[in-house]
Amino acid sequence: MLQGILMLAEQLLAGESRVEILYSRVVRPEGNPRAREILAQVFTPCDPAWRGVGVIPGSGLAIREEYGAFDAEKMLTVEVEPVREHPGCSCGEILKGKMAPSDCALFGKVCTPENPVGACMVSSEGSCAAAYKYGE
Ligand code: SF4
Repeated sequence: MLQGILMLAEQLLAGESRVEILYSRVVRPEGNPRAREILAQVFTPCDPAWRGVGVIPGSGLAIREEYGAFDAEKMLTVEVEPVREHPGCSCGEILKGKMAPSDCALFGKVCTPENPVGACMVSSEGSCAAAYKYGE
């Protein structure tokens, strides 16, 4: 908190306004070696399907076979239906930076925060929800 206040005061005195982060005080470029070691011990890379984007090889983590007793997917017999995307939803293109939310034909008409069609409009931090609330 104090460091944040100091940084704001320094910007104020310099007549500047910009976003700064303090992560460098607590996070090293190589991360936390012990935590990474444990993650690698318990998880293995997998190829998940990301909503609106599709499968990205190696972008997910799955529980290793030897820890299968703790894997909820193996313990619970719940059938999870594949996510059905609305054919007119352009979340994937928006998430990839290829389209702006207002480029979507459904934006603000059929798709609103009160009646979201796609994932980008569901939560308040979604790109379409933010663009709807604050403009682009
Ligand atoms: S406005 Fe709605 S339908 Fe269009 S991309 Fe965003 S979330 Fe999908």
